Amino acid sequence: MSQSETELRHLICRVGQHMYRQGYVDGAGGNISARLADDRILMSPSGLATGFLEAEQLIIVNLAGDRVDQPNEANAHLRATSESAMHLECYRQRDDVYAVVHAHPPTAIALTLVGFDFQQCIIPEMVVLLGMVPTAPYSTPSSQENSDAITNLIREHDAIMLSNHGSLTVANSLWNAYLMLESLEHNATILHRALQLSGDLNAIPADQIDKLVAYREQFGLLRPGDRERFAKYVESRGD
Ligand SMILES: [Zn+2]
Repeated sequence: MSQSETELRHLICRVGQHMYRQGYVDGAGGNISARLADDRILMSPSGLATGFLEAEQLIIVNLAGDRVDQPNEANAHLRATSESAMHLECYRQRDDVYAVVHAHPPTAIALTLVGFDFQQCIIPEMVVLLGMVPTAPYSTPSSQENSDAITNLIREHDAIMLSNHGSLTVANSLWNAYLMLESLEHNATILHRALQLSGDLNAIPADQIDKLVAYREQFGLLRPGDRERFAKYVESRGD
C-alpha cells in the first residue's frame, strides 16, 4: 500500500470523524495510526477528541516510540497516543500491518462484559472478514500491560477485543482496519439483539464452515492457526 503522508494524515482525521459519528468512541477515546515506512508510524495525538483531529496535529514516531517528525505549531506541545505501545507492538510483529485502529465500540464491549465469546461461527460475514475474534485478558488502558495483553494474539488475529475496554483492528490499509471495526460492532449489535430474544443462538452448520474459511483464504485474510482454530471449534460443538 502506498499512500502519501498527506493522504494518510487526512484519512486518519476522516476515520476519526467516522468513529465518533458512529459512536465507536467518545471524547478523546480511541486512537488511530498508519505506517508511512518501515520505521515511521503516523499516530493520533494523546488527549485530543478523536472525531475532531486535524492533519497537522498528527505525530510521527519510530518503532521504538521516539518522535521523529519535525514538530509544527499544531503539534509541538502534543505527544503520541497513550496507547502507542500497543500500536507499535502490532507494527513490530507484523510487516503486513499498515494501520491500527483502537476504539470503544459499545455493543461489542458490552458483550465481553457478560462473558460472550466471539470465537464462534454464527454470522458468515463475521467469520470471513474477522475470523475468530479473541478477547485479551484485562489490563489497564494506556499501560505497557495493555501492549503485553495483545502480544500473544496479534500475530494470529486481525481483530481482538480488549477485556472491559475496547477493540483493536489491524489491516493492510487504514480504511480496511476501520471497516473491520465497523463490521465488529455491526455484528455485535446483531448478536446482542438475538441474545435478547433467546440465549440459544443458531450457529452456522458445521459442514458449511470450511466454505467460509476458503473465502477467507481467497480474500487474503487467513491468519496462521486459523484452520486449526476453526477445526477445534467444530470439534468442540460435536454436531
Ligand atoms: Zn481505549
